[in-house]
Amino acid sequence: CGIVGVLSNHEAAPILVDALKRLEYRGYDSAGIATINDLKLDRRRAVGKLVNLSDLLVHEPLAGKAGIGHTRWATHGAPSVDNAHPHRAGRVAVVHNGIIENFKELREFLAEKDIGYSTDTDTETIALLAQYYLDEGLAPRDAAEQTIARLDGAYALCFLFDGEDNLLIAARKGSPLAIGHGEGEMFVGSDAIALAPMTDRITYLDEGDWAVVTRDSVEIRDANGNIANRDMKVIQIDT
Ligand code: GLU
Repeated sequence: CGIVGVLSNHEAAPILVDALKRLEYRGYDSAGIATINDLKLDRRRAVGKLVNLSDLLVHEPLAGKAGIGHTRWATHGAPSVDNAHPHRAGRVAVVHNGIIENFKELREFLAEKDIGYSTDTDTETIALLAQYYLDEGLAPRDAAEQTIARLDGAYALCFLFDGEDNLLIAARKGSPLAIGHGEGEMFVGSDAIALAPMTDRITYLDEGDWAVVTRDSVEIRDANGNIANRDMKVIQIDT
């Protein structure tokens, strides 16, 4: 029940797992991470405690300095490796907390385009839809924008794209989401506690906001697509 994203100058996997540990208090049934290494997207997922994911990463490491991570509290689809996040479709990986209320409708739209689904989750439709827009020729940022505009329900989510090692797209509606500002690094997390070891400089997204994040920039837009100026706060949390 937490999400994290990092654009770091260090290996992302240990940072992601550590941040997920700090979100364990929310409860979860499975966990996963995805990274970009040499511009290639890859992921690892495990059911149960985070130690299962850590053990998997010992045997099947994930290199790369950009990545996303998730602890899942299943709402649609049993706790299983297939249903664990990050979900992937083509070049797109996504982590999501919450519920996409209109996922059946989105599945029908995708079915009309001959795009099928392979998990029991509501979340997979987000990845499939974003990949559909990439196939239509949109850039990752625009594909994410179009996708987010079609989602009903409650969500905090973060996209990572194959071929892009300096881009995260995060969105918030009904679930809190924080951006953490580092020195030439940027972070996304469900709360400031997850990001505390990396930075104490936090910008909270407002309801309906979405953000285009790189290592040295954060562009936040509101639900109408207008640039939104959100305050950065210094938040003291014991690490
Ligand atoms: N609805 C999504 C799922 O069941 C996300 C659950 C969550 O918030 O962790 O996979």
